[in-house]
Amino acid sequence: AGPPELDMVAHLRRLPRAAADGSLALIVLHDTTALRRAERMRADFVANASHELKTPIAGLAGFIETLRGPAREDAAARERFLGIMAEQADRMRRLVDDLLMLSRIEQHEHARPAADVDLTQVLRSVLDLLQLKASSRGVTVVLDIAPDLPRAVGDPDELTIVFQNLIDNAVKYARPSTEVRVIARPSGPERVTIAVADEGDGIPASHLPRLTERFYRVDAARSRQLGGTGLGLAIVKHVVNRHRGRLDIQSVPGKGSTFTVTLPAVRQA
Ligand code: ADP
Repeated sequence: AGPPELDMVAHLRRLPRAAADGSLALIVLHDTTALRRAERMRADFVANASHELKTPIAGLAGFIETLRGPAREDAAARERFLGIMAEQADRMRRLVDDLLMLSRIEQHEHARPAADVDLTQVLRSVLDLLQLKASSRGVTVVLDIAPDLPRAVGDPDELTIVFQNLIDNAVKYARPSTEVRVIARPSGPERVTIAVADEGDGIPASHLPRLTERFYRVDAARSRQLGGTGLGLAIVKHVVNRHRGRLDIQSVPGKGSTFTVTLPAVRQA
């Protein structure tokens, strides 16, 4: 037996006589198209991941050769090359961490996490982690959390990763000396929304529908230069889906972007 989707297609194909009005044939066509698309996406993903890893590996191999040869007696060059090599290794580590994270979430995509999560604590801990990076770029992160914010229903570690990715992006793509605002509010019955708004360059509307695809970047060179893996928003999207939440992206080129996450909240007594 193959994957369940394949079984379903095979099953439908065995019933051609039932398709007197042609409607069944249409369903089969649709299913195989979706299946082929999923297969192509998986193949593209493996090719992209391999390519992303190959670049720093090639870089490392090149520097090792240089250190063995021309730079052997040159202490200053050696130091500089070792610094670049450490950066390349770090890039590979980030990429592998993100790949593992994606695969872990995907394996549990259908199980809904159900712990009580104190979002104020999550957002403060993320801010602690990113404060240094933000101030080194001249960006101020402002937390604006409603005092009556209900707890979210979810997984605290996964939600930490969501806001780490969104706030890290906001800081990365913000213009210097601007503010990133993180606004958390109760919303509707048993929901909570957290918006991360930056004053960055924004994202042209044509890119928005594909932004959460793995390795999709508006400007690949810029993303790499800023240390991005191109997987952050794919991880965010998967975690939010698993929580039965929503991710909305609004962006005005030249003004900034707002990423809004809506999550189920714990029912308040
Ligand atoms: P990356 O590691 O490249 O930042 P992400 O998956 O987090 O990968 O984001 C995908 C792409 O979306 C980025 O490369 C960038 O082009 C765009 N992007 C994400 N967040 C922002 C933002 N706050 N402002 C502008 N562009 C953004």
